[in-house]
Amino acid sequence: MENAEREILEFNKERDWDQFHSPENLAKSIAIEAGELLECFQWSCDFDKEAVCEELADVVNYCILMADRLDVDLEDIVLKKLEKNRQKYPVEKSKGNSKKYNEL
Ligand SMILES: [Mg+2]
Repeated sequence: MENAEREILEFNKERDWDQFHSPENLAKSIAIEAGELLECFQWSCDFDKEAVCEELADVVNYCILMADRLDVDLEDIVLKKLEKNRQKYPVEKSKGNSKKYNEL
């Protein structure tokens, strides 16, 4: 992802779009793109994989911009949260189980 991160940041810098990327605007953009991703499945379980990948990329794009804006390393925060989830969802309680951690 390092290469993608660098290219996304460069793409935005070239266009002077950083000025629009407040944390609030980026959070809204992530939610909007997640909605567009969901729209790919609106009326059917059949989906256009290319369209899904494009919307997934839009979500990740804004996540990368949000991490940059917050001056955090995206991989670090993802791994940190994964460790928290390991604690919340111990394998012996959650394997093959879709219940939320407070119902395990
Ligand atoms: Mg989109």
